[in-house]
Amino acid sequence: MRSALVVPAAGRGDRLGASRPKALVPLAGEPLLVHAVRRAAASGVIDVVVAVAPAAACDEVMSLLAPLHGDVVVVAGGAERQDSVRLGLEALADDVDVVLVHDAARCLTPPHVFTAVVEAVRAGAPAVIPVLPVSDTIKRVAGRLVVETVDRSELVAVQTPQGFAAGPLRAAHATALPGAAATDDAGMLESLGHPVRTVPGHEHAFKVTRPVDLVLAHALLAQEAP
Ligand code: C5P
Repeated sequence: MRSALVVPAAGRGDRLGASRPKALVPLAGEPLLVHAVRRAAASGVIDVVVAVAPAAACDEVMSLLAPLHGDVVVVAGGAERQDSVRLGLEALADDVDVVLVHDAARCLTPPHVFTAVVEAVRAGAPAVIPVLPVSDTIKRVAGRLVVETVDRSELVAVQTPQGFAAGPLRAAHATALPGAAATDDAGMLESLGHPVRTVPGHEHAFKVTRPVDLVLAHALLAQEAP
């Protein structure tokens, strides 16, 4: 049985203000996607990498990722993230029993997070998510008015890679409405009644979304450099 990494990397990245698709925006000379897949491959727990790329960039993505892992597949993405993940799942062989879904934009996620997620799925959890405590105070608002201050101790921020038993993940995507904008694969299994387990996330697994995130990612990479 094999573990697959599906990397949705077909987003435009409008909030980053870049002229390239977000996954191909360079960070210290290499695209975010390359940083992300290199760290996943270093975990040693991934047997096949399926990158879901912008249709016009599939060849470019293949040549970027081929040196990083021995088994790389590239497919073209869809209109929404959920569509891209479904297209990635359709490219998987039947002998894949564990699937990790990982945003290319969480490009500095350390290898041990991938290992922890795969181990939790192999230990029997149908869905596993890395989480971090929320540090900001969170309030529910209606327009400009505060309705409620939410109890922070009950909240977590959810990261990727999210790990799944392949069967339930395939079933969740097969029954989901095409074009629906799910931001989180685990939420799809949750709504079908599957338990979702958490493992500790990592502060370096933040999602590069806005220009300030690139500044932070640069600083972290500089710290890592020998
Ligand atoms: O836009 P957002 O930051 O939520 O995207 C999360 C991940 O999903 C990114 O890695 C992005 O490239 C990917 N995505 C995709 N196909 C889309 C939209 C987003 O693969 N249509």
